[in-house]
Amino acid sequence: MTVNLLGLGQEGLDAFCAGLGEKPFRARQLMRWLHHAGVDDFAAMTDVAKSLRERLAECAVIAPPRVLRDTIAADGTRKWLLDVGTGNAIESVFIPEEGRGTLCISSQAGCALACSFCSTGHQGFNRNLGVEEIIGQLWLANKCLGRGVAEARPISNVVMMGMGEPLANFDNVVAALRLMLDDNAYGLSRRRVTLSTAGLVPAIDRLRDECPVALAVSLHAPDDALRNELVPVNRKYPIQELLGACVRYLEKAPRDFVTFEYVMLSGVNDSLAQARALAALVREVPCKFNLIPFNPFSGTGYRRSDAAAIARFRDALMQAGLVTTVRKTRGDDIDAACGQLAGRVQDRTRRSKRRQDASAITEAAR
Ligand code: SAH
Repeated sequence: MTVNLLGLGQEGLDAFCAGLGEKPFRARQLMRWLHHAGVDDFAAMTDVAKSLRERLAECAVIAPPRVLRDTIAADGTRKWLLDVGTGNAIESVFIPEEGRGTLCISSQAGCALACSFCSTGHQGFNRNLGVEEIIGQLWLANKCLGRGVAEARPISNVVMMGMGEPLANFDNVVAALRLMLDDNAYGLSRRRVTLSTAGLVPAIDRLRDECPVALAVSLHAPDDALRNELVPVNRKYPIQELLGACVRYLEKAPRDFVTFEYVMLSGVNDSLAQARALAALVREVPCKFNLIPFNPFSGTGYRRSDAAAIARFRDALMQAGLVTTVRKTRGDDIDAACGQLAGRVQDRTRRSKRRQDASAITEAAR
């Protein structure tokens, strides 16, 4: 059987090398070639014995997802559409900024959470991505962006804010996060790797214990009634439980605040009263706010709040002492903005089934 080495984290590489009868340092050497140097050819691994290189070529491959499309926006934002098999495709986005480069990566083909304002959520869910598909996005982006010299690394930050709910694919996401942080792989600082979640409370606690990175939480509403509508998983994990998990997370987090994301939907969640309610709600949680102007997609009934409403909302939060930024919309000419990542999802969740699940969640929450 051939092994895709991109799918192996540190422990997997250790076990793989042990299986070949090789010493543990070989695993670290392999990790450096695979992820630090980014090679896709065993012949290039010059400090690995020729006999081992030949064995590797027989039993292993280095196989990232195939690039279906590579698009660059007017502002330099770059989006890759990647084939993940059986008719599914995912997207990753590189956002260059002064002094840093951020890669936004996907964790699932589709998403089961069905947030009402999210394009991915509208497409349904197909499956979790494997480690090789998650870390493969970073591997590929580095290659396409021409890494080579260590000094000129284009990707300084990674955000798990693409398609999917990362905490619903916990084990594979954590294995990929560990590779991002490993000095023999990508060597990113914990503070520069951010995971964004719709609020799966038990998984937030697990992440805190197993691999704390910077945390962003999609809040989007100041009360449970509205949040149930926008982020249906709120019926299972309502706001107070979620905020409790955020406070616990901060005990071990690399940053001393949680970032709350708040999508600005005209006439839905953008009033001054809602801004004040929101500020009161998060009083006990060290946090910053990131307001995301809604990015429309075909078939949505929502509209983006206008600039004046966004400014008014931001000012109200700031007056309440909350650091608040408004996310710049990047790459919208190539549909690369937040919530627009669509890829291609073969929905395996039958609609009737999804409705059942949604009502089961509602029942459980009663
Ligand atoms: N499942 C994760 C990652 C989702 S995408 C989560 O829920 O956090 C990252 C952010 O984009 C989330 O805050 C998400 O709510 C937001 N988002 C989704 N659709 C959007 C849209 N159409 N416009 C603006 N932001 C959107």
